[in-house]
Amino acid sequence: MAQLSDDCFAFGGPMMRVDEALAIITSRLTPVEDIERVELSTADGRVLAADVIAPIDIPSFMNSAVDGYAVRGEDIPANAARAFRVQDRVAAGVSAREAIRPAHAIRIFTGAPMPPGTDTVYMQEDVELSENGTVLLPPGLARGANVRLAGEDIAQGAIALPGGRRMRPQDVAMAAALGLTELTVRRRPRVAVFSTGDEVVAPGEVRTAAQLFDSNRTMLSAMLRRLGCEVVDLGILRDDRAALAAALKQAARECDLILTTGGVSTGEEDHVRAAIETVGSLVLWRMAIKPGRPVAMGVIGGTPFIGLPGNPVAGFITFIYVAQPAILTLAGASVASPVPLRVRAEFDYRKKAGRREYIRVMLKQGADGLFGVVKFPREGAGLLSSLVQTDGLVELGEDVSGVKPGDLLNFLPYSSLL
Ligand code: AMP
Ligand code: MG
Repeated sequence: MAQLSDDCFAFGGPMMRVDEALAIITSRLTPVEDIERVELSTADGRVLAADVIAPIDIPSFMNSAVDGYAVRGEDIPANAARAFRVQDRVAAGVSAREAIRPAHAIRIFTGAPMPPGTDTVYMQEDVELSENGTVLLPPGLARGANVRLAGEDIAQGAIALPGGRRMRPQDVAMAAALGLTELTVRRRPRVAVFSTGDEVVAPGEVRTAAQLFDSNRTMLSAMLRRLGCEVVDLGILRDDRAALAAALKQAARECDLILTTGGVSTGEEDHVRAAIETVGSLVLWRMAIKPGRPVAMGVIGGTPFIGLPGNPVAGFITFIYVAQPAILTLAGASVASPVPLRVRAEFDYRKKAGRREYIRVMLKQGADGLFGVVKFPREGAGLLSSLVQTDGLVELGEDVSGVKPGDLLNFLPYSSLL
């Protein structure tokens, strides 16, 4: 490591800012190239490989937006209500038999095609029916009212869904409305997940007095699946450099990314770092993020590697802010920063400037109806209860040196983060 001693990545050097690290990650990774066709019913959550261009107009014909009476714009009475003879009746799903005659109305229902010659619809609530089969239409309706124009939602040839979109229910609906039955998406990234540590055993296994159950692997696998990854669960690795190196090398051949938890600090029982140096190259970023800090990154035989800290809260937060952008980039998905909500601080806090911090908080509604946030009372990076019992994170930027009650803070609900 001597040659790296002046390098900002090296131990003891300045910690790298989160946004700097992210710029490097997202610029160096490239999306998986393989694409596949999937049916719409399984497309939710998948990443579009290319823009979807609308093959038709939506709506594909001009139609009524309401139940009412269709007329010609030039017949709309200017000053006083006027009786119109009702010439025809058009329900949704059928077309009018004939064009409208001057000074006539056509009974029409929501979604029915506008009869030839009509361009305006009176809502049925706004008219009066008379016994002789006429309808009394009031003056002053704007020409074109209550009509949906062909292509007003999406015009044929327009980009209906952008490439890189991680499909949501409304996106699948758009594809269906366009008449599509399949979409071209990228292959799911295959991500290998390891836990590390002699003290870690899988739930269901025999545990000695000095051991704890592995919670990180379950958490990270769940997070990866939410991002649409195929998880390759490679279990728990002992704190042994050779065994770690062999397992990492094998995983690198089969996966698009390797994610580990634990063993990336600078203690002498932190063997992941040494193992990476055996089988690949390591850039260890002591990132300026709390909880977090030790986050290892490297490359093994061309496959990216991210080593997250073992403390569950540090692992959770560094997954969201470091691993997630990397995974989305690999997945070919557009990477957008979550939009924080401005909420009022209901706590005091002192912070070191120069690093980014995430505070676990509970939402609390004030007497004025506005929301404030209360800090979880304890700070340990190992406290899973602090994630279970809170509503989200408050982000304190590098320049912030403290929080006073009443300050406006950036709050990110967990549901917006993954
Ligand atoms: P390390 O990063 O290996 O130094 O681990 C830091 C802390 O996280 C230690 O208290 C570990 O016991 C704990 N830890 C490491 N791996 C896991 C895991 N898979 N699940 C839960 N806790 C873990
Ligand atoms: Mg460890």
